[in-house]
Amino acid sequence: MNILIEQIEVGLMQNFSYLVGCMETRECGLIDPAWEPDRLLKAVERNGMRLAAVLLTHTHFDHMEGLEELFRLAGPRKIFVHETERASLKSFSEHVVTLIDGMDISLGNITIHCHHTPGHLPGCICYQAGKNLFTGDMLFVNSVGRTDFPESNPRDFQKSILKLKGMGDDIVVFPGHDYGPTPTSTIGEQKKNNPYLMVDFHQ
Ligand SMILES: [Zn+2]
Repeated sequence: MNILIEQIEVGLMQNFSYLVGCMETRECGLIDPAWEPDRLLKAVERNGMRLAAVLLTHTHFDHMEGLEELFRLAGPRKIFVHETERASLKSFSEHVVTLIDGMDISLGNITIHCHHTPGHLPGCICYQAGKNLFTGDMLFVNSVGRTDFPESNPRDFQKSILKLKGMGDDIVVFPGHDYGPTPTSTIGEQKKNNPYLMVDFHQ
């Protein structure tokens, strides 16, 4: 799998958007496009890629508020999102493709696997491409997303943490915000340095 990943910090809330592309077919997706869609589209162009789809880790506004502008600039694209988040995308409903745990998305010759990781919101997804895991607001470098929203569920969150802990130590973590000492990490490093992965939750 010949994959291109570009991490792009956007907006004023230290959000990370990601360009994930297939080097063979030049098809790419944007994970959580927000705040500066013009910059994101320039990155697509600079890499000689074609934007095929948008992938949302969840539908908090700071992860998707660039959609309208993105569609205006580039035309509509498929929007992948977990089925429980569909209601937040009413104005885009004809472009929405809903996902459930375990589904795969193809981007050119790249396969992106969906891990449903509820807790922060009921429809949070971590996207995995090879050894690369895009964690949205589930997992940050050395911390985790909030679980005090009305829709949050701390119990589900603990289960999702266990799911991430069960992945290989060499999995590279690409978080949804730049809140840590480094922009990326690995599951192995997080097991040593992230207090939320060091705790043994009782199931
Ligand atoms: Zn969020």
